[in-house]
Amino acid sequence: KEEVRRRHIRLHMEGALTARDKVGVQDFVLLDAYTSESAFVDNLRKRFSENLIYTYIGTLLVSVNPYQELGIYTMNQMELYQGVNFFELPPHVYAIADNAYRMMCSELNNHFILISGESGAGKTEASKKILQYFAVTCPMTESLQIARDRLLLSNPVLEAFGNAKTLRNDNSSRFGKYMDIQFDFQGIPVGGHIISYLIEKSRVVYQNQGERNFHIFYQLLAGGEAERLAYLGLERDPQLYKYLSQGHCAKELSTNDKNDWKTVCNAFSVIDFTEGDLENLFGIIASVLHLGNVCFQEDDQGCAAIPDTHEIKWIAKLLGVYPSVLLEALTHRKIEAKTEQVICPLTLELSVYARDAMAKAVYGRTFTWLVNKINSSLVNKDCTQKTVIGLLDIYGFEVFDKNGFEQFCINYCNEKLQQLLIERTLKAEQAEYETEGIEWEPIQYFNNKIICDLVEERHKGIISILDEECIRPGPATDLSFLEKLEEKVGFLEKNNDLLYRHLKEVLCRCQNSILRECFLVAELENRRRPPTVGTQFKNSLSSLLEILISKEPSYIRCIKPNERKEPSKFDDFLVRHQIKYLGLMEHLRVRRAGFAYRRKYEHFLQRYKSLCPDTWPHWHGPPGEGVERLIKYIGYKPEEYKLGKTKIFIRFPRTLFATEDAFEF
Ligand code: ATP
Ligand code: MG
Repeated sequence: KEEVRRRHIRLHMEGALTARDKVGVQDFVLLDAYTSESAFVDNLRKRFSENLIYTYIGTLLVSVNPYQELGIYTMNQMELYQGVNFFELPPHVYAIADNAYRMMCSELNNHFILISGESGAGKTEASKKILQYFAVTCPMTESLQIARDRLLLSNPVLEAFGNAKTLRNDNSSRFGKYMDIQFDFQGIPVGGHIISYLIEKSRVVYQNQGERNFHIFYQLLAGGEAERLAYLGLERDPQLYKYLSQGHCAKELSTNDKNDWKTVCNAFSVIDFTEGDLENLFGIIASVLHLGNVCFQEDDQGCAAIPDTHEIKWIAKLLGVYPSVLLEALTHRKIEAKTEQVICPLTLELSVYARDAMAKAVYGRTFTWLVNKINSSLVNKDCTQKTVIGLLDIYGFEVFDKNGFEQFCINYCNEKLQQLLIERTLKAEQAEYETEGIEWEPIQYFNNKIICDLVEERHKGIISILDEECIRPGPATDLSFLEKLEEKVGFLEKNNDLLYRHLKEVLCRCQNSILRECFLVAELENRRRPPTVGTQFKNSLSSLLEILISKEPSYIRCIKPNERKEPSKFDDFLVRHQIKYLGLMEHLRVRRAGFAYRRKYEHFLQRYKSLCPDTWPHWHGPPGEGVERLIKYIGYKPEEYKLGKTKIFIRFPRTLFATEDAFEF
């Protein structure tokens, strides 16, 4: 088997080497005009037209969404990439996965793979390919198969509840996801843990033209058994539900809701959901749909009333609350005076607001519950020594015609991650040359700290100012900049994310056991304001950064070739724009100014010692000297390499290719 594999590799290498001119270079550091954006785009386009979607910048992987099945994710391919050195095979997402895995196994340290790019660029697909790669190639015991299956099947469940069709992507992730895959000392995947970020709750109550609500609603209606729907009081036709039909594409041909429903149900059974859990869960999903259909009318006093209580009765049944209590909470507000509570009626407008706030709160917290539930099934208590590979699949920069609070949060998150990339890659690169005593010409790069400060600095940053506006009592009085913001994009309301106390009480006391876990009575007793959405997001980002800083990074940058979700279309303008904001030219400049490859003397010697009679079969002196002897013998030119204190630095991968060639025969 090993023989066959080596031959395979050999063929691939030849392919990669001889075809280099026709298909561009497979590592951007080999570009002659490496500072030219046009050369960069040309290289990507050339390769894309040959269906070569992956290209390296050193060890960073650039991936262009092919929008078609390319047959590059087969079992054969997975076997091929196992345990093979980075530059020995054409670039692939498997190489990134395998490299992180080997390093983790040999050095017993933790890793993460950061996948970024704009909506539809292929982040989620890449993260699934990586997970599959581990599931297939890692060692496995019978008793741990269930852990592996749960890891794999957590995906369809989270996608059903957290993904939706948008204009940019038919399966767009509307939450950020960080997933740790835990391995034991033998490198067997034994468990996992998921953290989700900022689920886009506003989608539950409103969708733009051509977009849908979260998949699960449509899946339940299309695939749910007749008895289940009857029990939930639901009809099959999604157009009957206001929360599902505002985008005017409830019946979407590009998705197969009925089949997906089966996949999700199967996943639920593997992940340990009981029939009771599912009953409660779908009770919640159905009650959100009913809630959307609750209509208000204005009575003579200008107060909101609910003339038809049909929906209220269903919600009350499904959540286990009294219909009258729910009805009152949707149309009235409790105000706490000094010693007593005053109940005052809401206007029509405020009732609609309260209804939507309830739908969003219920869905958002149920999503968090779902993540926790999945996490508890992914826990592996028996296994002590664990290392992890974290996969971060997070929305890239977004710029729309109209940008709101969500874009603010998402883009802030990307600034933070870009800062991490800058700090980790560029600074680390520089630091390494310094410690290795290798000459370094400082590279100018844009440090985006000032942007992050603008957003997050205490007392002065936008989030702090926003929070102040949110807690200021009474209506704002002066025409500050922030009030203008509020008028224009509604920042304050979304940051506040207010759920009236009255409704919160109803939810805390309902019979639905999932919601009882989501809305704790303690919250009612706590008189302090809960942190705002912006502050919560800032805090969760800073803990994410802490998680990442302690691990070894790998990066995948996904690029979207066109806006039409079509194969074989490469829009130069669009690609160039992404190259710019993904900071790829900056990254290339640094990699190219330095060296594409470096390896510890011991490792280098171990691999290539058979190429030189002085070092074969053993070299007894200092490894650095052995390497020097070895590369002199095989004829490295002085401009091709530098020798540091503990490592050899090779300027171009092609030098390494040649060495590998010699080594193969
Ligand atoms: P979002 O930020 O909206 O979640 P995303 O970057 O996660 O976007 P994906 O959902 O991964 O985007 O990809 C969008 C679609 O592109 C997929 O549903 C699939 O049809 C196609 N696609 C992505 N990557 C690949 C690939 N490697 N091979 C084939 N098709 C792909
Ligand atoms: Mg996605």
